Amino acid sequence: MYLCLSSTPDVGRPEDAQTQDTSSLDRVHRLLLRLCNAAALLLTPGLCRACALPLLRADAYPVCASCLDSVASPTFALCWTCGDALGVDEERAAGFVQRESLRCPQCFAEEPHFARALAFGSYRGTLRNLIHLHKFEGVRSLAVPLGERLAQTIADLIQGEAAPLTAVAVPLFRGKRSFNQSELLADEALRHLHRTHPEIPIEAGHHLLRRVRPTESQSHLTPDQRRKNVRNAFTASADVHGRRILLVDDVLTTGATANECAAELLRAGAASVHVATLARAHRRDTIPAEFTAHHSAAAVPIHRTDEGEKR
Ligand SMILES: [Zn+2]
Ligand SMILES: [Zn+2]
Repeated sequence: MYLCLSSTPDVGRPEDAQTQDTSSLDRVHRLLLRLCNAAALLLTPGLCRACALPLLRADAYPVCASCLDSVASPTFALCWTCGDALGVDEERAAGFVQRESLRCPQCFAEEPHFARALAFGSYRGTLRNLIHLHKFEGVRSLAVPLGERLAQTIADLIQGEAAPLTAVAVPLFRGKRSFNQSELLADEALRHLHRTHPEIPIEAGHHLLRRVRPTESQSHLTPDQRRKNVRNAFTASADVHGRRILLVDDVLTTGATANECAAELLRAGAASVHVATLARAHRRDTIPAEFTAHHSAAAVPIHRTDEGEKR
């Protein structure tokens, strides 16, 4: 759908007034286009942006219910600290050790600065598609259903603790994108939590952490390069002093960014930092064939620590 707006010539008018008029017209033009798109979507729902099947009804977001419902939490055992997969299914691992005692080799070798990181699901398949739609294709309305799922993760992470929490989204460097997808997700998650878990005392404090220099995209970097890439990239306000911080991001890959943010928040005096993300890129998310065929749990690279050792 195309709309053409015209205005009378600005001959003889001051330049500032012309600029103001032009920007007002731009805003009106954008608003009208948005309204027309919304009306078109209501009349013809179109195709699901994740699976390309026809949408059966017009909804606030262009993704079908089955795609949203198919996004689920993993059923394999996770490192209690960083949330990485341990390569064994949860039920089998539970027969040997408590969930709270499971550590991946990385966390066993060197504890991260954050107390614990938890993600809603694995960064693959439909969840990965939805995150890309939200982040790179600007489908901001997806923040609502994705935020609901993030809220569930936050509630699991908090585990009924009553002390107040401040949610801080991982910041972008200014001008990097027109919106910070993690901030949108965090705000929607908090809105949902306030309705479903009013007992959780949580508020947003995104201004407490800033990215002070641009960083390279992490996707092609090795874990070591990622650590170097984000080193000293953030600064925390002194107002974090004594606060329990919930750091929020859309995806946690190696944990380098979350770890650097946590280090800076703790340096500025935060009491603790927990991390909630929508997705986690797992390094070992399948059960090794040799494990299912012949071996006992001892063959799986699970490291056990005494409960509570880390904090
Ligand atoms: Zn779909
Ligand atoms: Zn770990």
